[in-house]
Amino acid sequence: MPQKRKTHHLQRDAQRPARPDGPLADLDEWEVDLVRRYPDPPGESARTAANTQHRQFRDYASDARPGVKEFYRQNHRFQTVDFVRGKRAAYLPLRKTTMSVWEAIDFLNTLVDDSDPDTELAQIEHLLQTSEAIRKDGHPRWFTLAGLVHDLGKVLCLFGEPQWAVVGDTFPVGCAFSQKIVYHEFFAGNPDSRDARYRTRLGIYEDGCGLDQVLMSWGHDEYMYQVVKNYLPEPACYMLRYHSFYAAHREGEYDYLMNDHDRDMFRWVRKFNAYDLYTKADARPCAQELRPFYEDLIAEYLPDVLCW
Ligand code: FE
Ligand code: FE
Repeated sequence: MPQKRKTHHLQRDAQRPARPDGPLADLDEWEVDLVRRYPDPPGESARTAANTQHRQFRDYASDARPGVKEFYRQNHRFQTVDFVRGKRAAYLPLRKTTMSVWEAIDFLNTLVDDSDPDTELAQIEHLLQTSEAIRKDGHPRWFTLAGLVHDLGKVLCLFGEPQWAVVGDTFPVGCAFSQKIVYHEFFAGNPDSRDARYRTRLGIYEDGCGLDQVLMSWGHDEYMYQVVKNYLPEPACYMLRYHSFYAAHREGEYDYLMNDHDRDMFRWVRKFNAYDLYTKADARPCAQELRPFYEDLIAEYLPDVLCW
């Protein structure tokens, strides 16, 4: 029997749809598409010659679902320096609300297709599949916690943000867009592509300035990083902040903006990526059974209530 949907004090406005605004059927469609783009975990991409050949000749554009393509058209058109600065100013004082981690998970679970009771737990399921796989591989406890919280920034959708400002590959704004960003051609519609300040290789940055100096396109990665950055070890912070930066951690782009410390930390980002993308077929975790373990883990690192 479908569970009754929980309400939260910050429940979306009555006028606002339960579904996030945008062309994706749901937020997971983007992550499912990532597995299609990157069928093998990092480091295993050249497993067999046959596989490699298959990938080389695969035409990305013809494979993607139409909703995904339209989603990237919007994302690449609207993620500009001004847009990112505006969202940072609006959200990063973290004065929107206060929630515990588990309240945020429950809140995020209200973000589903109302017609299908089976998808009610989709969000927590992905978080627990990720964290449980990390735990089973014997990684440090903070790594498991990073798995649990990594996508909680998607609550941005419930604050009224459209899909293109919440999910999707992230990339630096304020400098030239890499050709290796998926659907690179859609950046032609981005006004920053024609702005002399931003269209050069370095744009507003300096060689090797370090990613901390770089404005990333706005979405759930940066937001969640800001919410927990004072509490988690640095590798976990990198995992949260850059897990959707595929142009860098999968394609090796933007190395010229990184410093040696970023390069070192990106080993952790790649390690994390394997759990984020390739655990979706794992057994469905039982949230109720696992909750006591995770409540302890949360309490070990995070305060009872976080500022969002
Ligand atoms: Fe994510
Ligand atoms: Fe994820």
